[in-house]
Amino acid sequence: MSKSYSLTLTIRRFDPDASRRWFQTYTLSTGPILRFVDLFRRINVEQDATLAWTSSCEHAQCGSCSVKVNGRPMLACELLVENAVNLFGTTKFRIEPVTVAPVVRDLVVDWEKAYERVHRAKPYLIEPKELPPGMTEHRISPGKIARYEEATRCINCFCCAEACLSSCRNFIGPNAAMAGIVRMMDIRETQKEERLDLLYSEEGIYRCHTSKACSHVCPKEIDVAHFIALAKEGAF
Ligand code: SF4
Ligand code: SF4
Repeated sequence: MSKSYSLTLTIRRFDPDASRRWFQTYTLSTGPILRFVDLFRRINVEQDATLAWTSSCEHAQCGSCSVKVNGRPMLACELLVENAVNLFGTTKFRIEPVTVAPVVRDLVVDWEKAYERVHRAKPYLIEPKELPPGMTEHRISPGKIARYEEATRCINCFCCAEACLSSCRNFIGPNAAMAGIVRMMDIRETQKEERLDLLYSEEGIYRCHTSKACSHVCPKEIDVAHFIALAKEGAF
């Protein structure tokens, strides 16, 4: 027989119409393999239809369900009850919205605002090199790709930016910085000066103090701090 847990979720609420903020506690009995998004859904159905939260793919690919669980930024769609109990050693969880963007309601934040940082880093080739004569595509050696392939797993969930103490101090943030660094490492990019201007600007990588909190919380297990360290050394 599978284990059952009696959970207490204390959720930070915000009602923009009444300008009211408060914590609300819900208790649930649940099995081990429900995810936190399932718990939110159960609260909506069984206890409180007004609790607002966001998710989309629910397969850890879109980053829209990032929340703070007992202070740690995590994806609610991949956090199983049993794993959460083991990780935190408790059945009591405090759930809060991330702070990298303004809160719209309860756990819902304005992701467009968070994305402004990533857009500033231009997460695409600004101007690709011309193709070599007679070629229909650029050929990049496996060795070169291997240097930054890990970073391409980033889903812009902003968990790293949430964990980064420097994020609130005019730093563009770990994921946005990494988006620029990856294109610096891409042999097809020609606009490297423009990228360096941002990476070494006032809001650039020297705001990072190498705590590695970003790497620690990344749900895609990307060593974000490693890419920032490469950029600090100019080792693109
Ligand atoms: S680097 Fe990791 S934690 Fe940061 S946004 Fe990308 S996937 Fe999320
Ligand atoms: S290593 Fe740098 S970017 Fe990563 S969390 Fe620490 S200060 Fe932020």
